[in-house]
Amino acid sequence: MKKMAIIGAGVSGLTVNRLLNNKYKITVFERETTPGGLIRCKNVENSLFHLCGGHVFNTKRADVMSFFEQIFNLNRDFIKTERNSTVFFENGEVTNPEKHSMFVHRTSWVEGVPYPIENHVYMLKQQLQDSFIADVLKMQRSYHRRKPQNFEEFLKWNFGKTLYDLYFKPYNEKIWRTNLKKIPVDWLEGKLPMPSMSQILYNNFNHVKENDIVHSTFWYEREGGSQYIADKLAENADIRYNTNINSIEKTSDGWTINGEKFDIVVFCGNIKDLPQTLKCKQIEPFANDIDHLQSHGTTSVFCEIDRNPYTWIYLPSQKYRAHRIICTGNFSSANNRVKRLSATVEFTDYVDKDEILENLKNMPLNPQYLTHEYTKYTYPIQSGNTRAMIAGLKDILAKQKFYMTGRFTDWEYYNMDNAMGAAKDMIERWKL
Ligand SMILES: Cc1cc2nc3c(=O)[nH]c(=O)nc-3n(C[C@H](O)[C@H](O)[C@H](O)COP(=O)(O)OP(=O)(O)OC[C@H]3O[C@@H](n4cnc5c(N)ncnc54)[C@H](O)[C@@H]3O)c2cc1C
Repeated sequence: MKKMAIIGAGVSGLTVNRLLNNKYKITVFERETTPGGLIRCKNVENSLFHLCGGHVFNTKRADVMSFFEQIFNLNRDFIKTERNSTVFFENGEVTNPEKHSMFVHRTSWVEGVPYPIENHVYMLKQQLQDSFIADVLKMQRSYHRRKPQNFEEFLKWNFGKTLYDLYFKPYNEKIWRTNLKKIPVDWLEGKLPMPSMSQILYNNFNHVKENDIVHSTFWYEREGGSQYIADKLAENADIRYNTNINSIEKTSDGWTINGEKFDIVVFCGNIKDLPQTLKCKQIEPFANDIDHLQSHGTTSVFCEIDRNPYTWIYLPSQKYRAHRIICTGNFSSANNRVKRLSATVEFTDYVDKDEILENLKNMPLNPQYLTHEYTKYTYPIQSGNTRAMIAGLKDILAKQKFYMTGRFTDWEYYNMDNAMGAAKDMIERWKL
């Protein structure tokens, strides 16, 4: 049997291992002490803390679902949940009083408009509804508008200026912390809802909830959160934990890693590490482009919050930096052993504890800090040539039996199922 090294025991590396471990003798190298990468969890105060975000699973790919179902018993070990997410606005500026849910937050009102907001324009104040109608008429008059060239244009083009100013701009600027004009649209395709204006109008007239995006319903583990997925995927794998791979050397007939020889390498770590790690000349022409790849990190703050019925809450408010609360305590009762409700509050990039505490004071649902975790690489940002550059590098390295797949190898905004799908596609493409 040929020997294969996989770098990284995240969803991507573990999927490759699962799909190929009958064919190769595989060793997985992982720098952390547990499997899972971004989907790792730990227990804090007997409740489950997703170290990054609050991972839920679903997929539109039949082959990925079938792979998942070969490993997991969905009906026994998972709970099927309907998303109930909302956008919080403050101080009665946005909604029609009779048509929304309200929470008291110290001295102010917080109003929840169901997500996605574009399907619930009928719940907004009259003045905002008038302004939205004016946008629609204007959009119709300029029907042959130039196609959007960047994310800001995309959002205005699809939803109109009123919704852009009210929600899409403030929310997305908090997440991306960059001028939305600088984000190209093509790589977001398929990752964002792209309803037509006629769908939006129909949904508003008929009060239709959106049910087309991947997480409008989802599966969630009864016990252990997404760590359960990682642990199960990792079962029976030969994983060397606590092993950071910082040198991969090309030899005449394969690769050497940590002094051990392998015929084939599958890299599922971070492409930014490759120019330093990979001792082969083919990487050199790519080093500059790789160095310029942009990304964001996430500070995930584990909190106890007021009870509420939501799965997650979007926060466009400029009063604090956090952009989303994921009510993980609502996902499974096993997650929630605190008195109120356990949840993760997400901030883009690094935020220190003092700043976190200051922000929490201004946030709805009275969050009480329990602990936090910063992850440096969470959201890749592509530029115009990113995909072509990475595809070129992959083709060249594949000739040397060095293959690549993963969220930070492909620099793609993959969900878990996309990461599994990309691993499968890579195996099929190179006939591994
Ligand atoms: C905030 C947030 C929320 C999300 N929510 C969801 C969700 O609800 N549902 C969903 O489906 N997806 C979600 N995702 C996406 C999901 O996390 C990813 O698609 C998936 O975890 C990517 O797995 P990966 O293996 O490609 O990368 P990673 O998880 O980054 O794994 C890479 C692994 O390689 C290891 N590694 C890297 N370099 C080396 C090295 N040199 N030596 C040894 N080990 C190394 C790392 O330690 C890590 O374990 C979310 C992502 C974020 C950031």
